[in-house]
Amino acid sequence: MTKVKPVGPIPIGYEALDGELSIGGFKASILVAQHGSPLFVYSQSHLNRRMDKLRSAMPRELDIHYAMKANPFEPLLSHMIGLVDGIDIASGGELAIALQAGASAEKISFAGPGKRDQELKLAIDAGVTINIESPTECDRALFIGAAAKTRPKFAVRVNPDFDLKGSGMKMGGGAKPFGMDIELVAPTVKRIMAANAEWHGFHIFAGSQALEADSIIETQAHTLDLAFRLSSEIGQPPNHVNLGGGFGIPYFPNDEAVDIEKVGAALKAQFSKLPKIMSQTQFAIELGRYLVGEAGVYLTQIVDRKESQGQTFLVTDGGLHHQLAASGNFGTVIRRNYPAVIASHYTAEATETVSIVGCLCTPLDRLSDQAAMPKANVGDIVAIFCAGAYGATASPANFLGQGPAKEIFVE
Ligand SMILES: *Cc1c(COP(=O)(O)O)cnc(C)c1O
Repeated sequence: MTKVKPVGPIPIGYEALDGELSIGGFKASILVAQHGSPLFVYSQSHLNRRMDKLRSAMPRELDIHYAMKANPFEPLLSHMIGLVDGIDIASGGELAIALQAGASAEKISFAGPGKRDQELKLAIDAGVTINIESPTECDRALFIGAAAKTRPKFAVRVNPDFDLKGSGMKMGGGAKPFGMDIELVAPTVKRIMAANAEWHGFHIFAGSQALEADSIIETQAHTLDLAFRLSSEIGQPPNHVNLGGGFGIPYFPNDEAVDIEKVGAALKAQFSKLPKIMSQTQFAIELGRYLVGEAGVYLTQIVDRKESQGQTFLVTDGGLHHQLAASGNFGTVIRRNYPAVIASHYTAEATETVSIVGCLCTPLDRLSDQAAMPKANVGDIVAIFCAGAYGATASPANFLGQGPAKEIFVE
């Protein structure tokens, strides 16, 4: 007998139709019959529900931005543009996609280390806010901005002196390629103002994928305090402070969803006692996976069922070239199972232990390891959840000549 390993929690809101998983009102088998396999399916109603829940938990005056690197699929992005207050981009390529999808330039902010001159120029000409990540980037941006038709808008990205505890990916605290160290911030802001560019405020991002409300609350308090210290040093109120984000989603067994009401209540309390220098400041958070991660499902069809030394393998036509993170090869130390089901037998009881693998000729290509599943055969469909963020675009689609999966946006 093989040891059964648990799978992650299935996100709420995924119902059954005739015993099958349904997404946006369509059965998995119908979606695959119409669009082929493998297939990413993103659900609009899921996005709307998530956004409603977040808005009602957060302070009314807080802006919510979408960090589009989580999922830039155009129909999804267009929909998100209508739901959020800002779009955060991290490359000239994303700028083009965001504008194409209907984002207005005033609502776009551009972060990321290593912005090329050409990207800075495109962003300044478009009227996008640039989050300046170093004094030398500031020099380049001011030089390019001086020749531009519009007055450039620059915020300063700060490398905070703390990090988001329990965060899956730390992006602050200690030596980092992101943002600038605290002592460089005030001199840089003064140079921006002296050059008659618009100083938009601060961007302070301390980490990603945190599930503990208390960690997020503590980080937000530290972030507000840091923004206050820097504003006092500069002697000018910031128009805008981006407080970062970092709200995670449950991927693995025992992960629990962020207590968003608790985070929102704590932020409301913080906002009620802001120091005078920030009393007119507009605050924002920027989220990627929290907004879109659970709205996506990856469907892949079983092409072979085989036994090896007492273990059963379900071999699918998908794999890590579309879902690198689910295979455990994107920022995880120990491989654990993402939420996965046999979508074509969604409501059936688990009767066997199987490993679900991809079609790539590498042992890394494992979508679910020794999981308890209902009996499945060739032609059945596997669903991997939490596929709405860092799936299609954060996976090596060209590996082994496979190519990208189709993506669709449904009700
Ligand atoms: C990647 C990134 C985000 C989004 O992170 P999620 O974990 O998807 O919420 C937000 N802000 C910045 C600066 C980022 O680099």
